[in-house]
Amino acid sequence: MTKDLRSLDVERHLPAAILAQRMDRFRATLRSASIRVTPQRIEIFREVAGRLDHPDAEAVLRGVRARMPSVSLDTVYRALTLFRQVGLVAARRPRRDSVRFDGRLDSHHHYVCTRCGKTWDLDAGAVRVRHEPDACGALGTVDEARVEVRGVCRACSEGGAKKKRQRKRGGGA
Ligand SMILES: [Zn+2]
Ligand SMILES: [Zn+2]
Repeated sequence: MTKDLRSLDVERHLPAAILAQRMDRFRATLRSASIRVTPQRIEIFREVAGRLDHPDAEAVLRGVRARMPSVSLDTVYRALTLFRQVGLVAARRPRRDSVRFDGRLDSHHHYVCTRCGKTWDLDAGAVRVRHEPDACGALGTVDEARVEVRGVCRACSEGGAKKKRQRKRGGGA
């Protein structure tokens, strides 16, 4: 598992073949719901579906604007709400003040950075969950268990160390 976590921030983008599958599902889902597949919606979905860090709406906007400068935050919010309603993305709340979007729909776990809120997927097999049959059995059956691993990501811990050094030299905020 340690190895998986270390490679997470290197692999910021999804493999092209999986992204292509998600784009196909996106077009099919919108069409069957009679929702227009517009260039803006395509780019907004591509940004969410193609990233591994579960971007929030502002991060989606920044990414889409690099390709489509006219897109507004309002458009991004409306598109994301629509995608949630038709089940194309899931919303996660790693911290109280942020909502991040997930283009992966199968059962999986998450690693959440408690500082920046960035969230990465962990395959269901990457974390072993020990069921507590006694505790769960009293409540009902167990179909799946989702784990949220929380910590401080490498970018945040390295950035924090850099800031401290700058402060010592009298610079920085
Ligand atoms: Zn972080
Ligand atoms: Zn996820």
